[in-house]
Amino acid sequence: MKFEEMRDLLSLEDKTERQALYERAYSCKLAEVGEGVFYRGIVEFSNICQKDCYYCGIRKSNKAVKRYQMPDDEIIESGIWAFEKNYGSIVLQSGERKDKAFILSVEKILKALKKRSNGRLGITLSLGEQSEETYCRWFEAGAHRYLLRIETSDPELYCRYHPSNHRFEDRVAALKLLKKCGYQVGSGVMIGLPGQTIDNLVRDILFFKETDLDMIGMGPYIPHHATPLAEQSEKGKEADQRRFNLALNMIAVTRLVLKDVNIASTTALQALHPNGREMGIQAGANIIMPNITPVKYREAYKLYENKPCTDENASQCVNCLEGRIRLIGEKVGYGEWGDAPHFKKRHTAILSRK
Ligand code: SAH
Ligand code: SF4
Repeated sequence: MKFEEMRDLLSLEDKTERQALYERAYSCKLAEVGEGVFYRGIVEFSNICQKDCYYCGIRKSNKAVKRYQMPDDEIIESGIWAFEKNYGSIVLQSGERKDKAFILSVEKILKALKKRSNGRLGITLSLGEQSEETYCRWFEAGAHRYLLRIETSDPELYCRYHPSNHRFEDRVAALKLLKKCGYQVGSGVMIGLPGQTIDNLVRDILFFKETDLDMIGMGPYIPHHATPLAEQSEKGKEADQRRFNLALNMIAVTRLVLKDVNIASTTALQALHPNGREMGIQAGANIIMPNITPVKYREAYKLYENKPCTDENASQCVNCLEGRIRLIGEKVGYGEWGDAPHFKKRHTAILSRK
């Protein structure tokens, strides 16, 4: 697809035209990754973070946040709960920490989860930037996918959204290291950030393509009152609606351009619309990440305002979600890892070169 066409599709505002775009992207999803929505139960196991991203509600400088770290056993039990409910995979996510105790505890948790599930539970990590040694150590311990959003592929915008010691080059280098260690690699951006243009979003999609990603996770940017970026952000219903529509457009165009990758319909979509995640599937996404964090911690993991489902436990979420997915004529791919065809092709190509 040409740059101009991507720009035109991303810019669509008219409801009927947007609907036509989503239907085209949904057909592409069916053709490239098939029918079905895969679950990744997400455990947000700690909000302790060394970083200070200007948009994030749990950034280090937000002293109003009560910090927590789930005990290892509780993290393992949450993961096993998802395994027993036949979710094919889980995601372990937290703020960024690089200390030895953290690295070893993640390694221990991964090994325990693999052992208890006879190697059958798929595990994705979303634990920020780490050294090559740490990435490889966690891969050896059983993690096989890693999510690390580039947030924006424009180095200047990246500087605007982060303190100077958070370097764009390091983020790009980390994505390369993850691939080198053998992970299926996912990245993505926030949509509707202050100063971000449609052309930036086109270049984000081109960045995904150049980086040869297997998975995409992106969602609308949602201002959090206790962050520096909120002051520069438009707030209110209209701004939310614009960011929501733009996020759906972005999912659809990404599906049409990248074709055979996994694309998540993220919780941030649901924060802006009660049916946001289902609408994301209908616009071409194929992954949903139900929150399986114990309810008592959820209030403290607010990356953005109005994060949904903070008072529902994981079992309530299961019932509610399955019904919603059936309502849109889709089915849940229970008990499967649901790897992206893109990764399978990439993997076969790597093996045949060896
Ligand atoms: N610390 C890890 C994982 C947790 S943050 C990391 O940063 O990679 C996960 C994602 O939440 C971030 O990548 C960012 O894209 C998203 N996020 C943070 N603040 C947000 C906000 N205000 N609106 C929307 N998404 C946000
Ligand atoms: Fe920490 Fe991730 Fe939030 Fe940045 S986005 S402050 S690394 S939790």
